[in-house]
Amino acid sequence: MSDDETIYLDYAASNPVDPRVAAVFGEAGLQVGNPSAIHACGRRSREIIDRARRQVAGLIGAELAQIVFTSGATESNNLALLGSCLPLSKKFPGRRLRILTSPLEHSSVRSVLERLAADHDFLIDELPVASSGSVDAGAAAGLITADTVLVSLMWANNILGAVQPVAEIGKLIAAERQRRGPADPPVLFFSDAVQAVSRLRVRPLEVGVDLLSFSSHKMYGPKGSGVLFVRDPKLLDPLVLGGGQENGLRSGTENLAGIAACGRAAEILAAERNQDQRRAIALSHHLLEGLRSLPSGWRVLNDAPETLVEFVFVQSPRFRGDELALRLDAAGLAVSAGSACDAGKRAASPVLAAVYGEKAAQQGGVRISFGRFTRDEDLDRLIAALRILSAGR
Ligand code: PMP
Repeated sequence: MSDDETIYLDYAASNPVDPRVAAVFGEAGLQVGNPSAIHACGRRSREIIDRARRQVAGLIGAELAQIVFTSGATESNNLALLGSCLPLSKKFPGRRLRILTSPLEHSSVRSVLERLAADHDFLIDELPVASSGSVDAGAAAGLITADTVLVSLMWANNILGAVQPVAEIGKLIAAERQRRGPADPPVLFFSDAVQAVSRLRVRPLEVGVDLLSFSSHKMYGPKGSGVLFVRDPKLLDPLVLGGGQENGLRSGTENLAGIAACGRAAEILAAERNQDQRRAIALSHHLLEGLRSLPSGWRVLNDAPETLVEFVFVQSPRFRGDELALRLDAAGLAVSAGSACDAGKRAASPVLAAVYGEKAAQQGGVRISFGRFTRDEDLDRLIAALRILSAGR
């Protein structure tokens, strides 16, 4: 799907809204009545939220009480990290608690961890990353110490699409839990699954994940609504206080339209993900074939097997990533030179630097990402534009 003039190949930044989701969004947006009100109008609003909660819980195999609706994954990430770690730092005064993470995390995780380190004295450890773009799970065993209270590892990276060894790390955390006594701090596992949930089977309870975030606009829903799965709501202290909505974990009158749409988006995904996946594989073959047909010098960086097929990160022999993205924009093609959230910052992406080194990160490249509404013709237009750029015209 594209708007009239632009071919949209930036699904990793935000998906187009599925028209079936837009219909639900429009309808729920007009629903009168506060979901907390006891009258019929309030009850109808409440039913809309209840249905959405069933749909979202169904997508990830969770219980209804484990789903918290938020304003998006940024908020979910803040709630997961601050909501779990701040009470622990209060509970274990004088003990230097540690968090294990990766250099691949989104800024909405990284900056919260920096805050926990600066203001609450947490020590942040990082898992090493292999050239595949995935962390080295083998190294985790030595990095989970008796003071580690949280492991924060995204399910799939938002720049390279590299899928992370969440299940393996989950097993290590389960083993560490066995070693701890009742007086010891807990060790929790948090995963930012924003990029994974629309593309992979994501079931937090099956892999020992306690906290999991995702976002409606990365699953063909509208922007401004998201989800936090929490295995046990008692693990968290809320950040937003008030009327006690969302099981006391996120006060505020609910974003009915956003929640209803998120639910419908989850329902469609659960029914159609396999079909989406088959199309994505075919599109990816088409794109890679097109890229191979270009004059030499173009490189696909993220070609490791454990990569989401909907992400292709390309480096040009002539242009820096940001320049290439601008030239493609001028040719009517929307791609990203990194992540949209880090857009405007000219510094090299820390993710590229961690995986490919500083030099490759300075050169950068463009992330081409596609999905449910992309057609072969859209990719052909991209290849044609890259061919023209190769010829220096
Ligand atoms: N985590 C990841 C991996 C993301 O890609 C994004 C969106 N760019 C976010 C978190 C933030 O999500 P939201 O836009 O819903 O706040």
